[in-house]
Amino acid sequence: MDPVPYFRAIINEPHPTLHKAAKKMRPEELLDALVQQMIDDMFVTMYAAPGIGLAAPQINVSKRLFVVDLTEEREEYRLGPLVFVNPRFTVREGEVESNEGCLSVPGKVGDLKRYERVVCVALDRNGKRFEVEGKGLFGRCLQHEMDHLDGTLYIDKAQNIRAAVTAEEEETASTEGESTSSGDGDEAALSA
Ligand SMILES: [Zn+2]
Repeated sequence: MDPVPYFRAIINEPHPTLHKAAKKMRPEELLDALVQQMIDDMFVTMYAAPGIGLAAPQINVSKRLFVVDLTEEREEYRLGPLVFVNPRFTVREGEVESNEGCLSVPGKVGDLKRYERVVCVALDRNGKRFEVEGKGLFGRCLQHEMDHLDGTLYIDKAQNIRAAVTAEEEETASTEGESTSSGDGDEAALSA
């Protein structure tokens, strides 16, 4: 019988784990049933939040791993659920400003600039290398999660950090990710 995934507690700022660089994973770690269980737990925890991304440090595990799923949010992505182990960007270009929230910084949003397009190389949960292009909401989500692995929160970079007031801001703040109110209208809340 497969183990049942369970919710993990999401830690909040100023927890020290959120502020330190996470450790690179050894590919053999992915053979560990407990690590596979943790990945399942991260998805369950992310969906319940709800969020579109969740990084291991947010459940107090300092490993370079995050999960993303935007299929609910934006049908055109059709990418999720995705697991990124030891991710790195091979391309970062352009610039876009949007507002973001974070599951580890409840009730707040802020404005910040991100790259408009990134290409990310990572291992999947089976240790297989893959590459994915991220633009728009997906691209910003990848950057938000990558920052978590480096011990950086969006509030370390953002301008105009404020309590979420509007309905849209509330959604951004409560879903961990980001949202873009300044963008082109078809970009919605990203919470990660
Ligand atoms: Zn976050």
